[in-house]
Amino acid sequence: MEFYILSIFPNMFESVFGETIIKRAQEKGLVKIELVNIRDFTHDKHRTTDDYPYGGGAGMVMKPEPIYEAMDYVKSKSPNVHTVLLTPGGRIFNQQKAKELSKRESVAIICGRYEGFDERVRYLADEEISIGKFVLSGGEIAAMAIVDATVRLIPGVLGNEESLKEESFENGLIEYPQYTRPREYRGMKVPEILLSGNHKKIKEWREKEAKKRTIEWMGEEDG
Ligand code: SAM
Repeated sequence: MEFYILSIFPNMFESVFGETIIKRAQEKGLVKIELVNIRDFTHDKHRTTDDYPYGGGAGMVMKPEPIYEAMDYVKSKSPNVHTVLLTPGGRIFNQQKAKELSKRESVAIICGRYEGFDERVRYLADEEISIGKFVLSGGEIAAMAIVDATVRLIPGVLGNEESLKEESFENGLIEYPQYTRPREYRGMKVPEILLSGNHKKIKEWREKEAKKRTIEWMGEEDG
């Protein structure tokens, strides 16, 4: 799978994409990530990517031309690329969307800055995604979250594919509580059932706890 990330701050991605699972996935050749600097597609001395909004108002808006030209470049390499525009008002990202993206061959993610994009940039997008009902200063952190959640679902990326089956949001449930050593820490004990060696009982306990957590979580979720 390949990602093209369009941003005016490509250096922000280096540490996140250069460590652990995403790094290994690239080394194994399962994922290719190309950082596309939108400024490389400007034609003025100051490499300008923003301008004043028509009609007035606070802040600056991302100009359409460098983003269109950056996408021309991406499409010259990957004509069928699926294009995601990051906007606070987009469809909220979730595990289902991560799965959907992980099955695609090529995804471009356009990161905004300033007060967002000239409206015409929206015509480039196959879909608009938000990572939550809050406003970030830019799309870079959202793109990192989306790439991270997506890459770990690509077959072969995780050492143990089994771990995906029991994770939160699989089968509509939040994952059950997990414990490791020590058996007791600051008065907090590992539930006896997990030490029993009775796999049937452990499975039942985990299912019950996962359901309990999910009900609690549903009560807290904001609509
Ligand atoms: N003025 C815009 C508005 O009110 O909708 C907010 C622009 S925000 C400061 C700058 C950029 O950050 C956006 O264009 C978008 O790419 C990104 N961004 C901000 N919040 C986001 C979110 N919740 N999910 C995804 N991207 C986000």
